[in-house]
Amino acid sequence: MGILDGKRILVTGVTMDSSIGFAVAKVAQEQGATVLISNFGRALGITRRIAARLPQQPPVLELDVTDDEHLAQLPDQVREHVDGLDGVVHSIAYGNPETLLGGKFMTGPWPDVAQAVQVSAYSLASLSKACLPLMPSGGSVVGLTFDATVAWPAYDWMGVAKAALESCSRYLARDLGPQGVRVNLVSAGPLKTLAAKAIDGFEAIEENWSARSPLGWDENDQEPTAKAVVALLSDFFPATTGEIVHVDGGYHAMGA
Ligand code: NAP
Repeated sequence: MGILDGKRILVTGVTMDSSIGFAVAKVAQEQGATVLISNFGRALGITRRIAARLPQQPPVLELDVTDDEHLAQLPDQVREHVDGLDGVVHSIAYGNPETLLGGKFMTGPWPDVAQAVQVSAYSLASLSKACLPLMPSGGSVVGLTFDATVAWPAYDWMGVAKAALESCSRYLARDLGPQGVRVNLVSAGPLKTLAAKAIDGFEAIEENWSARSPLGWDENDQEPTAKAVVALLSDFFPATTGEIVHVDGGYHAMGA
């Protein structure tokens, strides 16, 4: 018996086995879900190879969240494998590391900022909208954030995009709640994934995280974050929406 028995879940943003999305797909399968994964562009081939490392090889869909055609075709793509969805995981972010991150806040150009906000925040709304016809009896949308209530070293415009994502999740919770769709985020501590490694100076955030967290923190362990995502996808949070659950060893609650 798993907490996702019988559930059909789409997990976006799976590139490597270090991706948070990969860990979510793994735990979701272990908990009984039928999982579909997606990625886009050049990395799709890598995703197909990585998919074989999951307990059951899932279908791999092509989805660039900035491509209106991909979004329009998503319901048909999904229906080739399952007859609907019970949950969707948004595990997607992008900000140009050359122009926006690693101390480039004061010089970040608007077209790149616009791209970061579109891919990392607006896409939570466009993905949810695209998946809505697949969830006629309601469902659960879960995204990933990095605490946007404060300014971090190096995170720069991605921090602004995450603030937009956090706000977006609350508005989606408001508008999709009447249709039985819950929208929540998991705010994870720093994890060594491709996205994190691309940020010059991200080590400054990682430094002291474990020492300051009452529970400690392993930046190579995606499983605690994945388990929280899976819990939010399950029926164990039936009255929770617009929420941000911290999975960070307790770091956010400490003053020093
Ligand atoms: P990751 O493995 O690099 O995952 C990010 C994913 O976003 C990649 O699969 C990437 O694809 C995909 N993506 C980028 N642009 C896209 C687009 N236009 N359409 C569809 N997919 C697109 O890194 P991750 O750390 O697991 O990131 C997953 C989520 O967790 C992100 O929202 C991230 O901000 C968040 N998060 C990460 C940390 C951390 O410390 N790592 C902490 C808190 C929250 P490509 O690889 O092909 O570009």
